[in-house]
Amino acid sequence: MAPPPAVAVAPGVFRIPTVGSWAVNSFALVDDDGSVTLVDTGLDSAPARIVAGLAAIGKHPADVRRIVLTHAHPDHAGGARELAARTGAPVAVHGEDAGFAEAGTSPPNDRSYTVGRVFARLQNGRFPPVPVGEKLTDGQVLAVAGGLRVVATPGHSPGHISLLHEPTRTLITGDAIFNVLGLRYSPRMFCNDFRLSKRTAHVLGELEYDRVGFTHGPEIVDGAREAVRHFLARTVTPATPE
Ligand SMILES: [Zn+2]
Repeated sequence: MAPPPAVAVAPGVFRIPTVGSWAVNSFALVDDDGSVTLVDTGLDSAPARIVAGLAAIGKHPADVRRIVLTHAHPDHAGGARELAARTGAPVAVHGEDAGFAEAGTSPPNDRSYTVGRVFARLQNGRFPPVPVGEKLTDGQVLAVAGGLRVVATPGHSPGHISLLHEPTRTLITGDAIFNVLGLRYSPRMFCNDFRLSKRTAHVLGELEYDRVGFTHGPEIVDGAREAVRHFLARTVTPATPE
């Protein structure tokens, strides 16, 4: 069965699958005036699916006013250059990842881990470089669809962010937590600093939300905060070394 072009997560918040039904997701947030903020842009091959996802919710690339990237990895920033060109929208990314987005390179992998070293040699982590129009900071609330809070969760990459849509109490984890065969931390080989990534994921247990969208995995729309807190509580505590 073909994956749906877009899935409603909350009123005005849509998930757009760009690989399979939920393997790699972007999100679209619709403002009262009809304008759209895109969160993440998939691989460099993803823009056609994102445009189709927008069409499924009655939107056109010209409605996109802003593109927010959770981090500078090829499966999140890969389509950014093309989508910025097609929409005219500026790209916003945390300051610590901005240089990587503009260079079209991923931050270095966690080389404290053998597979990380091997993986770093196998994949070059490159994507089309994209100009950054705005550098985001922790705690900033973007004037997007009633308020989108930037929550810095570094470790997956130095400037990795999660996003909290305050009006609908919807959290977008980015790659701080995956929902692939259950909740899990981002695999170590994809992280810049795995221990830091696990530690900062615990910030997400302290926020207030009812629904959670994942860039990798299907959303949780019932008992989301409890599910995240339960996952965090039963996994390695932040202070425990790996
Ligand atoms: Zn990533």
